[in-house]
Amino acid sequence: MKIVIGFILLLVMVAPAQAGNRLGLPDTLTQGGLYIGRVAPNSVVWLGNKRLQLSPDGHFVFGVNAHQQSRVVTLWLVDGNGSRHRQEFTVKKQHYDVQRINGLPEKMVTPPKKVLARIRADVARVRQVRTLDSNRQDFRERFIWPVRGRISGNFGNYRILNGIPKSPHGGMDIAAPKGTKIVAPLSGVVTMVSKLYYTGNTVIIDHGFGISTVFAHMNRVMVKVGQRVRQGAQIGTVGMTGRATGPHLHFGLNWYQRRLNPALELGRQPAR
Ligand SMILES: [Zn+2]
Repeated sequence: MKIVIGFILLLVMVAPAQAGNRLGLPDTLTQGGLYIGRVAPNSVVWLGNKRLQLSPDGHFVFGVNAHQQSRVVTLWLVDGNGSRHRQEFTVKKQHYDVQRINGLPEKMVTPPKKVLARIRADVARVRQVRTLDSNRQDFRERFIWPVRGRISGNFGNYRILNGIPKSPHGGMDIAAPKGTKIVAPLSGVVTMVSKLYYTGNTVIIDHGFGISTVFAHMNRVMVKVGQRVRQGAQIGTVGMTGRATGPHLHFGLNWYQRRLNPALELGRQPAR
């Protein structure tokens, strides 16, 4: 018996700190990527100091910061026996272009003082909606394209609007004629329908565990807050409300406040 216990102790002691990937994730992660992992349901998973929500069958999800400078993401797994395992993942950098857009109405680049309070309130509302922590698991579906069309603006681009540098583009722009149908890329529940200064008619859909999508510059909105939508169901039409030079859908993907790259999830666009 003593020998057996000794052997087990020896095994525990020599087990390397990073013995393989116990989290069901790829070895390399990408800036702006969304990752779904899987562990035994009685485990606990931490990303930094955030404990990740776990589904009854052990799935969890998180996103990598699009502009994260560190080359490494560290997750901790506490297994059913209480043992802690540190797992490090290399982060692959993405290249983001500089995009210059000219000809925007001046009030959309440097807003007049009288709308600053409204813009601050818009930002706070969106932020609040993105704190939602529902236990839906719609994020496990495979994304479908909300609209088909030419990509007129990539995620993460450093943007210079009318010559003024602005924050990086938080979503992807898909150009399509006004009135083109927009469908839900995943099932979910509508958590915001609002007309915002920059993004015009805006819809946010919750897909669970902090994952949400946003649809901006819409012409018509065909859903209400609290409404359940199925993947592929129409939520509205393409427009150019808010800050836009032409009709397009601004499509964004978030893990809580963190902006993720929707293009990494959509894959190739189906033939039109
Ligand atoms: Zn956009």
